[in-house]
Amino acid sequence: AELLKLDKVTRAFSDGTQQVMALSNVSFSVSEGETLAIVGPSGSGKSTLLSILGLLDRGYKGTYTISDTNAAALDNQQLAHLRNREIGWVFQNFNLISHLSVLHNVVLPMRYNREIDKRAYHQRALAVLDSVGLKDKLDAKPSQLSGGQQQRVAIARALANQPSLVLADEPTGNLDSKTGNMISELLMSLAQAGTTVIIVTHDDKVAAKCDTQIRLKDGTIAHGE
Ligand code: ADP
Ligand code: ADP
Repeated sequence: AELLKLDKVTRAFSDGTQQVMALSNVSFSVSEGETLAIVGPSGSGKSTLLSILGLLDRGYKGTYTISDTNAAALDNQQLAHLRNREIGWVFQNFNLISHLSVLHNVVLPMRYNREIDKRAYHQRALAVLDSVGLKDKLDAKPSQLSGGQQQRVAIARALANQPSLVLADEPTGNLDSKTGNMISELLMSLAQAGTTVIIVTHDDKVAAKCDTQIRLKDGTIAHGE
């Protein structure tokens, strides 16, 4: 089934004197359990697209539909709900909270999810940390972990609320190639469990692992090469 669809999405920014078209008429759809790579040079619109997909930016024209809902029609409460429950983020710099343990970093998104009680969220945190191979690091602080381990904690955190969509922004950008390969394989494995994974990447090897690749050029999808 289809998870999300963009129909002629256009995003313009005004930088004082002139309009910058960060995205122009971008249309595509993504299925449940699909992996999608977004590639393209710096300034081509990748971050702008990811912000729209993650419901962080609503200043676009055109239509973004996620889980059969028009994102533009959501009120703030519904937006916050969808962002917390349906979307998990993974970043280049991991963005873990340094003074919290591994376990508490993963628990954190569940604290904003009133559907889970405290006992359940600790169980779930343990389960997702186990699934990324970090069950023996619960009490460690992020600084005590390698980059690859920190990214695995970040992936566990992204999965805490069992999202339908994981958005990863250069997830292997700070990792050596062997570790990056392991992290991209882990992201691909999420899709086997039905989670849709969208990765912005400069790494062709990561992009090649995804079911679909979208190449942006000056804010439009470049078809063919
Ligand atoms: P990428 O992530 O591929 O590097 P971006 O989406 O960041 O590309 O940027 C696409 C274009 O939109 C660039 O020309 C950038 O300068 C412009 N842009 C992005 N965000 C803003 C903003 N908040 N204000 C003005 N221009 C922006
Ligand atoms: P809070 O969630 O209010 O910060 P704690 O996290 O310290 O409180 O403890 C809440 C629950 O989480 C406790 O019931 C405890 O058993 C469980 N817990 C805390 N740390 C761990 C851990 N390392 N492994 C398993 N369970 C833990």
